[in-house]
Amino acid sequence: MTTNNIAVLKFGGTSMGTAETMNICADVISNKIKQKEKPFVVVSAVSKMTDTLIKLLELAKNNKKHDLNTVFQASKDRHFEILKNLTKNAELIEKYSKIINAKFAHLFEILNGIILTSDYSEKTQAYVLSYGEDLSSDLMELCLIENGIKGKKINSNKLVKTHGSYLSSDVDFIKTKRAFSKIAKEIENGTIFVMTGFFGGGIDNEIMLLGRGGSDFSGSIAGIALNAKIVEIWTDADGVMSADPRIIKEAKSWEEMNKDIASEMARAGAKVLHPKTISASFYKIDILIRNLFNRAFNGTLINSKLYGDGVKGVVSDDDYSILHLENQDMFGSAGFVAKIGIIAKENNISLDMTTTSETSISFTIKTKTLNKVALKAFNSIADFSIVEDVVKVSVIGENISNNQILEKLFTALKSSKIEPLMISMGHSNNNIGIIIKKNDKVKTIESLHKAFF
Ligand code: ADP
Ligand code: ASP
Ligand code: MG
Repeated sequence: MTTNNIAVLKFGGTSMGTAETMNICADVISNKIKQKEKPFVVVSAVSKMTDTLIKLLELAKNNKKHDLNTVFQASKDRHFEILKNLTKNAELIEKYSKIINAKFAHLFEILNGIILTSDYSEKTQAYVLSYGEDLSSDLMELCLIENGIKGKKINSNKLVKTHGSYLSSDVDFIKTKRAFSKIAKEIENGTIFVMTGFFGGGIDNEIMLLGRGGSDFSGSIAGIALNAKIVEIWTDADGVMSADPRIIKEAKSWEEMNKDIASEMARAGAKVLHPKTISASFYKIDILIRNLFNRAFNGTLINSKLYGDGVKGVVSDDDYSILHLENQDMFGSAGFVAKIGIIAKENNISLDMTTTSETSISFTIKTKTLNKVALKAFNSIADFSIVEDVVKVSVIGENISNNQILEKLFTALKSSKIEPLMISMGHSNNNIGIIIKKNDKVKTIESLHKAFF
């Protein structure tokens, strides 16, 4: 239980997309202050900026200077456009123009450094990608000041302490809590911090990312470290829904959802939430998913309660390939799967869905992780073939591994003439996965959604 009344408010990329949407965020923050809550703000990069930074890294790596300059200039212009629309105050324009200019100049130097040195280490990649949130938080600070709110940007690499891999690091909560305790007094005195999402910092505060979509998790980390009352994730959809509303127009919004189901939905591809966001629920902190563009919707509340059996969502995840391995010697032998596991580990390939017969094994992997060395190694232990362009569609819910659900699922697939390529249902009882051809994706989601909702 907490008494400090802190509400962590995380705003996503679309919410950071324009000066207008930033002003709506400021209005949400202002309402919280009026209700005597103490907001702590976490922001994503301006929409699509992280993708743009990835593109810039690629262009630098491949020495495509001309394209790099064009993309770089466009993203710089976009940030200045937001700045210009946030304030008419000459002093503030000058101050923030200097900040933004200096950051873009530095970014340009780093990108040119990559061209010159071919240094494409994960450490450098993480550093470049952190610019998205570093810039958006400056703009959000300005937005708050312009709205009469005592906003103060703060860099998360000094607060969220991490270790492990630069692109997807792990959080040290003891060190993180200690770091956050240093700003508790200021929060108490009414400062509204705007923290960069998406990354933390290692021993020397070097940038370490939390993985794509990780700003939601940053919100939860702040919530845990500050012992907050609530973590609110402000996005552009009506909370966690029964399907991606971009695919299914009539998708249903949930008012409440169990944390494990929400996390399962996220892991299976529901982009609305980073899977690790639910970690706040383990500390009995409520998580609320709200829509910045439909504030009439009260949000999806995620907590530890169980909300009853049944399907809660049909979710998809793109860009998989299936690898089929066949070897007659596999029959009754020990250690064949171990050989596959070693090859996968050595090549940094994560095996996803797996199905077997006595003499064959098939598994899905993310297509981008396929590489020639691994394929050669797989080929040395078995005959193999690849099916590219497949998608995983998952039916998620509480206690759904039963005949009633399976009957509905297969009836829907049959009537839509969809042939699954692989199927998985296991111990968890809350996830049934099917692999289908990419071209069947929308039809599959539509037919399953219709069957269950
Ligand atoms: P943000 O930038 O706010 O973090 P994201 O783009 O990461 O937002 O996530 C929100 C998007 O997630 C929505 O626009 C929606 O298209 C998508 N989405 C996918 N599956 C679901 C789902 N089951 N419920 C809600 N939104 C979903
Ligand atoms: N900007 C980061 C990304 O696009 C983090 C986030 O938005 O959650 O992955
Ligand atoms: Mg997101």
